[in-house]
Amino acid sequence: MGLEEKLPSGFLLTTVEKLAGYMRKNSLWPATFGLACCAIEMMAAGAGRYDLARFGMEVFRASPRQADLMIVAGRVSNKMAPVVRQIYDQMAAPKRTIAMGACASSGGMFNNYAIVQGVDHVIPVDIYLPGCPPRPEMLMDAILKLHEQIGNEKLGPNREKIIREVEAAALAAKPTHQLKGLLA
Ligand code: SF4
Repeated sequence: MGLEEKLPSGFLLTTVEKLAGYMRKNSLWPATFGLACCAIEMMAAGAGRYDLARFGMEVFRASPRQADLMIVAGRVSNKMAPVVRQIYDQMAAPKRTIAMGACASSGGMFNNYAIVQGVDHVIPVDIYLPGCPPRPEMLMDAILKLHEQIGNEKLGPNREKIIREVEAAALAAKPTHQLKGLLA
């Protein structure tokens, strides 16, 4: 936001944080953007049966400059990766990303030369949504979890501290190629 970097810590900051979080979480606009079969579920979530509009999320924007949420719905091919990055760069800040489905999160069953093995190789991801494909209810749950995250976001000096902590935790985490899941 710009202003938040100049806010002093302490008095009133908590209230400002809560207010900014409340406004941000209730005004997310997703970019109209689908890559593969998961996009059909994303479209279903916006249609009458599931009615994403209940959460103020139905305004899918055709221009990235009017959007601040990217739902990566489907596998990302190597050819498409630079386009995904460009759209992400053009979106309004602060921006968020949901990796929808196994393919967007990790490459899924497409362990081959053509598919990026997780969109987090190209853009930062806030929420990973499992499933092939995830049902519209799961997408809505992911969006609500993202709302929770945004609502609790810190501002000013607190924000910088949290970003540093998150970066340090990410660097200290075990690389995904060493994770064994249930085989460990
Ligand atoms: S996770 Fe499944 S449904 Fe989604 S893009 Fe991949 S193959 Fe298609």
